[in-house]
Amino acid sequence: MPHDLTRLDAALAAYPRATLLEGPTPIQKLSRLSQLPDMNGCNLYVKRDDLTGLGGGGNKLRKLEFLLGEALAAGADTLVTWGGFQSNHARLTAAVAARQGLACVLILTPSAVRNDDDFCHNGNVLLDDLFGATVHRLPRGLAPDTYAAELVDTLKAQGKKPFVMPLGGSSPRGSLGYAACAAEVLRQADALGIQFDRIIVPNGSAGTHSGLLAGVTLAQSSTQIVGYSVLATQEQASATTLEKTRQTLQLLDPSAALADNAIHIDGSQRGEAYGAPTHTMLEAVRLLASREGLLTDPVYGGKAFAGLLAAVRRGDYPAGSNLLFVMTGGLPGLFAYRSAFD
Ligand SMILES: *Cc1c(COP(=O)(O)O)cnc(C)c1O
Repeated sequence: MPHDLTRLDAALAAYPRATLLEGPTPIQKLSRLSQLPDMNGCNLYVKRDDLTGLGGGGNKLRKLEFLLGEALAAGADTLVTWGGFQSNHARLTAAVAARQGLACVLILTPSAVRNDDDFCHNGNVLLDDLFGATVHRLPRGLAPDTYAAELVDTLKAQGKKPFVMPLGGSSPRGSLGYAACAAEVLRQADALGIQFDRIIVPNGSAGTHSGLLAGVTLAQSSTQIVGYSVLATQEQASATTLEKTRQTLQLLDPSAALADNAIHIDGSQRGEAYGAPTHTMLEAVRLLASREGLLTDPVYGGKAFAGLLAAVRRGDYPAGSNLLFVMTGGLPGLFAYRSAFD
């Protein structure tokens, strides 16, 4: 029986949304990888959210559809957000602002673990500049949210109408983008005649994970969402994801109940810090590239895919399991991490 998506579709339609994607992103099978003996008979698939066209693509565009909708409804003329130097969210906010004819102000914070030349000047930061964003590079130790609050006061005093987005665009409104993605995946699964047992995602600011979980919950799908935390510890990420999922469900349908055991976070792949390369990440990025011709990033997708490989190799999933890995983009990050691959 196909999924009944009427409740989810109707709930999403209540919020203003700008169109930034060209249509559904493809789901593809990783045929050559799934054939490897150590994949234990699991069927690995990818959801190609790296193929969203604007600004180099990536998962933040789905959130930005709802965030831009909210910003335009509020009459905003300037988008303000923050993140690390290599923030994909910052880069895509800059691209969206460029396309929409809005100003964009980015507040970028240095990394605790990387400061080589490529990291500081290549990859996403290069693109922020091309998109015409105004970039404030904060010194270590200054809190970006406090800085943003002061900046917003200054912009307002200049007669501007700033719209502020949190880290990763993961407000409840932003997370709706991934509730919409859940509907898209369930429709594709119905059309393909595949039941996905697990959907696997990187978990950074948790909006991707929370939105998907809110979406499958409202659609009453039994698909489990598994997140690999790359920013927070397993415990912190679990708490944040639970809270954000509840907030997103609150927007969609306050009567929707979340199962007690719905949050699945694995913290084993983060490594010493956010953005710190790990051996398993390097192996996962190389394997996906050399076996399937697909590119994942070193900060998010590489670590999450490493976690999926480890779970499959351990035999966590029975043969015949259908596992869908969400490719979230972040390709520019590879160029910022050249030295890690030497
Ligand atoms: C931001 C990001 C993620 C994580 O998404 P969250 O919603 O912040 O958890 C994953 N992959 C890439 C490439 C990203 O830029």
